Amino acid sequence: MHEPPVPHLRGQDPEIAGLVEDEARRQFEKLRLIASENYVSPAVLEAAGTVLTNKYSEGYAGKRYYEGQQIVDPIETLAVDRAKEVFGVEHANVQPYSGSPANLAVYMAFLEPGDPVMGLSLPMGGHLTHGWSVSATGKWFRPVRYDVRADTGRIDLDQVRDLALKERPKLIWCGGTAIPRTIDFPAFAEIAREVGAVLAADIAHIAGLIAGGAHPSPVGHADVITTTTHKTLRGPRGAMVMSTAEHAKAVDKAVFPGLQGGPHNHTTAAIAVALREAAQPDFAAYARQVVANAKALAAALLDRGYDLISGGTDNHLILIDLTNKGIGGKPAAQALDRAGIELNYNAVPFDPRKPFDPSGLRVGTAAITTRGLGEDLMPRVAAWMDEVVQAAAKQDESVVERVAGQVRELLASYPMPGWTATP
Ligand SMILES: *Cc1c(COP(=O)(O)O)cnc(C)c1O
Repeated sequence: MHEPPVPHLRGQDPEIAGLVEDEARRQFEKLRLIASENYVSPAVLEAAGTVLTNKYSEGYAGKRYYEGQQIVDPIETLAVDRAKEVFGVEHANVQPYSGSPANLAVYMAFLEPGDPVMGLSLPMGGHLTHGWSVSATGKWFRPVRYDVRADTGRIDLDQVRDLALKERPKLIWCGGTAIPRTIDFPAFAEIAREVGAVLAADIAHIAGLIAGGAHPSPVGHADVITTTTHKTLRGPRGAMVMSTAEHAKAVDKAVFPGLQGGPHNHTTAAIAVALREAAQPDFAAYARQVVANAKALAAALLDRGYDLISGGTDNHLILIDLTNKGIGGKPAAQALDRAGIELNYNAVPFDPRKPFDPSGLRVGTAAITTRGLGEDLMPRVAAWMDEVVQAAAKQDESVVERVAGQVRELLASYPMPGWTATP
């Protein structure tokens, strides 16, 4: 049963209620290894489902364009104050609708159309909004892309510096969607300073690790920091832009009225709740465990002959190159999904295959850590993955059902926030 329960939904729209229940059960029964996903707490779910969704609040606390902000103002102020406290920043804007609009706000705040912007290229682990060609950020600005090194799978900071000196970007992005290693914020900051660029750290993936002290913070190095709130940070779908006091005004003006209208107040409340959770000691334990699980899973995969980009991980994420296993990422991901192990196919650096059928798999440990799985179980997860990948390479479906059953059986003893299994 969904937690909080949804009796009105069940009464009024059984079709949607049934699908919500099905999705909850799916999330309960599967090993969710998608690196950008998690399970939020029932408290976050409750906050996100409140009457705050009824209210329009264009503007900021104390300076709104609609009346009736007596309650919304303190809610948004709490969210902002908690963000400042958790991340140790001077300024936070909690209104961006999601990570992509938060990043657009950075362009809006600091760049003019056509200005050069530098980011990690998408197939190397960057994000669309860091200037990739199909994104508005690649069409409306002049993208300059850096890579990872072929030999180490790590970001090539010499190349970043050379490119920055040559192309003089006004904005440099660090961070991405498939980076298994610690981001060297001080090194990026030095390069940005040298060329007079704004340094933006996009910590969408690692925000929860930073909040929990399990990854170095960009604070004090980056001029502006963007993050989603729903990945390792374990809040609702949403985002934040954080900055030094110097850039506060530019950031706020860019988000509203530059890009958005009214903030989603129910999301703001849920962000506040998630940030309060992130300030508790058990969140630091969660963040540490996410990394410990990723390292244990990486070690177990290496033992089984898997080729990991950069040879392992420092964070929540593992990027596997399946080339030596004789199967592409997509058929492997599909077979794993059928076997109850949910992850995504992903390009690997210098991938010879096409983006829709790339060579790799991306794995993350945030969601299974929230479920309570520990390092002791990672060899078993690696063994299941290996069995399914090997079978899929031979187009053998026989193990899929057995593994799915074993996964279900294991997860039955790990409660899921947001759903209670009813007999
Ligand atoms: C997920 C992500 C985003 C975008 O977030 P959405 O909420 O999906 O728009 C931006 N940057 C990075 C690095 C991400 O991982």
